[in-house]
Amino acid sequence: MAKSAVAIQNYIHLNDDDCESRIAEAKRVLGSELVILGHHYQREEVFRFADYSGDSLKLSRQAAASKAKYIVFCGVHFMAEVADILSRPEQMAILPDLAAGCSMADMADLVKVERAWRELGEILDMEQVTPVTYINSAANLKAFCGRHGGIVCTSSNAQAVLKWAFARREKVLFFPDQHLGRNTAYGMGIPLEEMVVWNFNRPNGGLMPDQIRSARIILWQGHCSVHQMFQPEHIDRFLERYPDARIISHPENSFEVCQKSHYVGSTEYIIKTIQESASNTRWLVGTELNLVNRLHERFKGEGKSIHFMSPMVCMCSTMFRTDPQHLAWVLENLVSGQIVNQIKVPEKEVELARLALDRMLEVSI
Ligand code: SF4
Repeated sequence: MAKSAVAIQNYIHLNDDDCESRIAEAKRVLGSELVILGHHYQREEVFRFADYSGDSLKLSRQAAASKAKYIVFCGVHFMAEVADILSRPEQMAILPDLAAGCSMADMADLVKVERAWRELGEILDMEQVTPVTYINSAANLKAFCGRHGGIVCTSSNAQAVLKWAFARREKVLFFPDQHLGRNTAYGMGIPLEEMVVWNFNRPNGGLMPDQIRSARIILWQGHCSVHQMFQPEHIDRFLERYPDARIISHPENSFEVCQKSHYVGSTEYIIKTIQESASNTRWLVGTELNLVNRLHERFKGEGKSIHFMSPMVCMCSTMFRTDPQHLAWVLENLVSGQIVNQIKVPEKEVELARLALDRMLEVSI
């Protein structure tokens, strides 16, 4: 009789130390068949087992280039989808906890985006609108962009992607993160008056036809609940205390926070900028807590002082769901030949989503 998968209930009461040794042993047994990817925002107890760490796109590309058959993505759902889309046919992507989603990605779904596209089509010539989706979105939205001549972007290449889009068509529909869209477009010289926010819960996005006609970029009203916790007052108070401090923020932060920051960029950019800074510099960092704590540990020996921007704990609760218990569970099932929590994007979406991702990769090379 075929062996069945062991249930997660057998793992949830294990303590972290037990999980640690079981994960290490499963990794040893699986060897080069396995690659574990750890996003920057993962908790330390999981992050330490990552073969590769970084942002979601970089990790998926590294996994696809590896010999591994099993890609275990310690991240959130859309990341495992991207890993599956970019993987070779013999590889499979696995997400340790299926409840690890992204609240920002969930703010745009295909039904709402298609409705917006239809409603905009009653006012605009849609041959002149490029849909641009942040990589933090479902695979079917990436496929939507592939189908409509659109493209994917990351926080590292958003500006290059928007330049590409505006070189081809007059307007952009940008989803799901309004802040990344606004901060990037403003940095390219597009004034705020040429941007409108599409409220996806209201007919015509809550906008008048003239507002839509005169906008260059239509921003979906989505946001990251972690980054919206950072406020400009946090920066003001810190600079009163430490006038020489440097402020660095992720572009998912509000416009006001980004305007008050000395540096704005992706997680990879934040890491690189702090790494290359002089010793004894002091930094206030506006991004997720696990990454900031890791930077603090990594650079304290160089005399760099790294502070978290908010007095509140701003941790990504969905990233936090991936715990050592779930990691041990998926790995030990793999050892016994059972696949649990595979993420498989439907074939018809893979092709179109890949098209939108390939356009982005060409732009950002
Ligand atoms: S930090 Fe924000 S954007 Fe990133 S996964 Fe969490 S909710 Fe999504």
